Amino acid sequence: MSQQPHATHDDSCIFCKIATGQIPSQRVYEDDELIAFKDIRPAAPVHLLIVPREHIPMLAAAGPQHEGLLGRIMLLAPRLAVENGATNGFRTVFNNGEDGGQEVYHLHLHVMGGPRPWRAMP
Ligand code: 5GP
Ligand code: ZN
Repeated sequence: MSQQPHATHDDSCIFCKIATGQIPSQRVYEDDELIAFKDIRPAAPVHLLIVPREHIPMLAAAGPQHEGLLGRIMLLAPRLAVENGATNGFRTVFNNGEDGGQEVYHLHLHVMGGPRPWRAMP
């Protein structure tokens, strides 16, 4: 049986809706498995979210089948940081679960950079 890479989708998920274009976003990157867009409530002058199109609820829900995907997310971060103006360093954050401060239950990597001071992350 062939694998369906983007079959996992949640109609009620805000990042699934952003991925399909049902909800607008300021997109800075897209390919067949990832999108990246500006955080609506930026904590830093540059604040991007890198999001897989597949609905993976959180990092702890990822499995060995997501190893390549997670690697591609991490490798995209420095490129998008620089392309979007974070030329002097940046921070990457995966919030995971309630105590991790996760608000949107669709896996995403925060990429934050630009001149300090930054707002504290919630
Ligand atoms: P979490 O706390 O789940 O790691 O982060 C979720 C992030 O998504 C927050 O920083 C929040 O500002 C951002 N966010 C939530 N809803 C939207 C939206 O509709 N559009 C965009 N661009 N960002 C959003
Ligand atoms: Zn989703």
